[in-house]
Amino acid sequence: MRIVLLGAPGAGKGTQAKRLAEKFDMLHLSSGDILRAEKAAGSELGKELAKYMDAGKLVPDAVVVGVMAKAISNPAASKGLLLDGFPRTVGQAKVLDAQLARFNTPLDLVVYMDVSADVVVDRICGRRSCPSCGAIYHEKYLRPKVEGACDQCSYTGQLELRRDDTEEVVLRRLDAYKAVTAPVLDYYKDAGAEKVLCVDGNRRPNEVTAEIVAQLQALAT
Ligand code: AMP
Repeated sequence: MRIVLLGAPGAGKGTQAKRLAEKFDMLHLSSGDILRAEKAAGSELGKELAKYMDAGKLVPDAVVVGVMAKAISNPAASKGLLLDGFPRTVGQAKVLDAQLARFNTPLDLVVYMDVSADVVVDRICGRRSCPSCGAIYHEKYLRPKVEGACDQCSYTGQLELRRDDTEEVVLRRLDAYKAVTAPVLDYYKDAGAEKVLCVDGNRRPNEVTAEIVAQLQALAT
């Protein structure tokens, strides 16, 4: 199966992607994680990426499609592919379609997670992550079992707020989303509405997972 998860920042794509990739044994590619790893490596490309990412701006298509095309060509993608955060512009969606068409492996489903702006700000501004393993927490909704330690790895210390998770930057990311990512949904709807599943992402993560899993199981049979 090849799936794209679409939705505003904070819609819950990362949480759902991890669960779905594990359940259906798919390669999970998060463009945000891949770009952050490149940035952390401090390469010339990484320094260029930081200018966009820290400001909450989208990285130019030419850069992102190159990075993602390489990741998608990983042989592990043949077992199944779950894309999270990519494509984010119609241009990226077209390049992805062309790449998948070359291998005769079109998308099976686009999952659109709809979420309101106030929910996004509340979720993102409270989000904290483990600097060692990347596990995600929330100040109000998901604190680690032991304060000052990660549940998933041996890290002890402060959990981090991502530089682009401040309210000011989140609002800018939402504007970018409305201007250039929302049209990606229309692009996929025009391409074949039966391929798009719209879910209400304002609900609890378990309810959202259950709805998507039911749909994927129906597709797999
Ligand atoms: P995310 O973790 O998905 O919220 O992505 C964090 C940041 O990485 C975004 O705000 C962008 O600066 C950049 N980014 C991630 N995916 C893309 C993409 N598909 N196109 C352009 N920029 C991206």
